[in-house]
Amino acid sequence: MASCATTDENPFFSDYDTPFGVPPFHLIENSHFIPAFEEGVRQQEAEIAAIITNPALPDFDNTVAALDYSGDLLNRVASVFYNYNSSNTSDEIQALAQEVAPMMSSHRDNISLNPALFSRIQTVYNQKDELDLTEEQAMLLEETYQSFVRNGAALPAEQQERFREINQELSVLTLRFGQNVLADVNDFKLWIDDEADLAGLPGSVVDAAAEAAAAEGQEGKWLFTLHNPSVMPFLTYADNRDLREKMNRAYVLRGNNDNDNNNQEIINRLVELRLERSKMLGFDTYADFALQNRMAGNVETVETFLKDLWTAALPIARDEAVELQKMITSEGGDFELAYWDWRYYAEKVRKAKYDLDEGEISQYFEINNVRDGIFMIVNKLWGLEFVERPDVPVYHPDATAWEVLEADGSHLGILYMDMHPRASKRGGAWMSSYRRQQVTQDGEFVHPIITIVCNFTAPSGNQPALLTFDEMTTFFHEFGHAIHGLMSDVIYPGLAGTSVPRDFVELPSQVLENWAKHPDVLKMFAKHYETGETITDELIDRIMASANFNQGFATVEFLASALLDMDYHTKTVFESFDVNEFETRVQNRYDMMDEIYFRHGSTHFQHIFSGGYSAGYYSYIWAGVLDADAFEAFVETGDLFHQETARKFRTEILERGGTRDAMEMYKSFRGKEPGIEPLLRQRGLVR
Ligand SMILES: [Zn+2]
Repeated sequence: MASCATTDENPFFSDYDTPFGVPPFHLIENSHFIPAFEEGVRQQEAEIAAIITNPALPDFDNTVAALDYSGDLLNRVASVFYNYNSSNTSDEIQALAQEVAPMMSSHRDNISLNPALFSRIQTVYNQKDELDLTEEQAMLLEETYQSFVRNGAALPAEQQERFREINQELSVLTLRFGQNVLADVNDFKLWIDDEADLAGLPGSVVDAAAEAAAAEGQEGKWLFTLHNPSVMPFLTYADNRDLREKMNRAYVLRGNNDNDNNNQEIINRLVELRLERSKMLGFDTYADFALQNRMAGNVETVETFLKDLWTAALPIARDEAVELQKMITSEGGDFELAYWDWRYYAEKVRKAKYDLDEGEISQYFEINNVRDGIFMIVNKLWGLEFVERPDVPVYHPDATAWEVLEADGSHLGILYMDMHPRASKRGGAWMSSYRRQQVTQDGEFVHPIITIVCNFTAPSGNQPALLTFDEMTTFFHEFGHAIHGLMSDVIYPGLAGTSVPRDFVELPSQVLENWAKHPDVLKMFAKHYETGETITDELIDRIMASANFNQGFATVEFLASALLDMDYHTKTVFESFDVNEFETRVQNRYDMMDEIYFRHGSTHFQHIFSGGYSAGYYSYIWAGVLDADAFEAFVETGDLFHQETARKFRTEILERGGTRDAMEMYKSFRGKEPGIEPLLRQRGLVR
């Protein structure tokens, strides 16, 4: 085959000559990305053309599997590029990302709206019962077909045009929704020039407010805004009740003011268009459409689930309100608890009860101790071993590479860990992959290459990296995602590892946090970084009690928004509505308390009106139910490392990726559907 010089030098174009076939990071230069993307797109286009023009009748292998295996080069370059863009970025990479985004989005559209390709998939789909497919093949066929249909591929041409119009308008509206919220956030400024109004606020918060004021040329004043790092501490600590009210009202009114940023009309239009599009696809409501490919499966399941939790949490929140009112009265306050008081008095009660010092706790969570603790726990559960491999290329000197081995010494996969912040890394913590597990068309088993990236407290001076309790549990969380990716044992790359429904993907991660928080397990790895002393029962007790505090409020505040989300998206007929009245009706229907407002009110509810969580906000607490119930399976045996339970969790869930219906996987592991009781106990929501 003819090739030009640049092609020869571009490492993406040849097999990786590295240990375990990891990307040759030491050879990759920024100039390699665009040519590799372009060539990757061209190759996948050629592969798809070959599928379409194949003279053989469409069948599972020559159409559905062929599509899933296509785009190998594109996957290789994209996995490196997107990981670079989030954890090893630069101005140059970010500029390249702007070039790559439209290229990739039009490439994806060319695939999902390709009528000849869809026609072949449909032919296979229509014969699915006669094809004698394995469970995994049937799932890949179903997922492939549904994703084309959900993108409008099955609609007649004139409806496809309307469909594209709707998508176009939706994309503009969702963007504007978010911009309006941001505009209202930026418009509001609380200026303080009397030092007395700062009473109660921690020094670091006051300093930040002084800096914010100085940045606007107002030296000597203090500026508070509706950005979370400013408004939340203000609501939690500021003694001045009138100012708290002012701040909280402004916070609640984001996107709902008498100005150009008002989102009420946009909400109406979004609800209307989503319903229209869902009906075109044959669904009664938008929620029916959205839930079709989630674990919960249907509206009734979600609503029953939310209402059951609501019924449990509401009385606890009412008890908490009584406790807060007592604190108000004991301080001589002559007023009734309002929503702008809750965070403030909850913090006072919490302090009085537990008085925890984060600095004391973190001395028991030196980062390498925590890591070794996780290794030990995963070893006790599944026998895995972790061996550091300095010979494996890394994308940044901060990252470390580990070979993950089965109990019998065989290779499972490669795990990168990259733990501390730096300028080239975005915030947060996540798991990702450089190569997904699969069995190639030639029958070769491809082992996964997984990475976890975090932004944990870094070492400083002579002090090693000491993690907060939250950071420690986040480490377990991301490790749980990594295990899910590493243990994947499927055939098709499209169903590997974490390719599961949104309301299921957090189970393997959150379940591992349960070990992190269990007193018996904590005592196995939480040792003082200087003295080596094991964490005391007394400190563990205070950590646990403090973690359960105010859970009635947190749960009710969350559930109110989840119920609101479902109410917007279960309309079967659209009639224009007033957003404030809509919220009031929801509050009345569920007998909500006035002292708690929605965690996200409609006009700034970005998860559902500009993010991907429409009819999906429930997912966060759904995953909480799953992980609590799954951990209960271990607790019930009286052995947190019960081998048979661990084996089942691995073979029924962790190995299976998205090859089976999520609820079926769960039931195969647990023997029954998940119940909410373990979550209620975990959050202290049982009276
Ligand atoms: Zn997660």
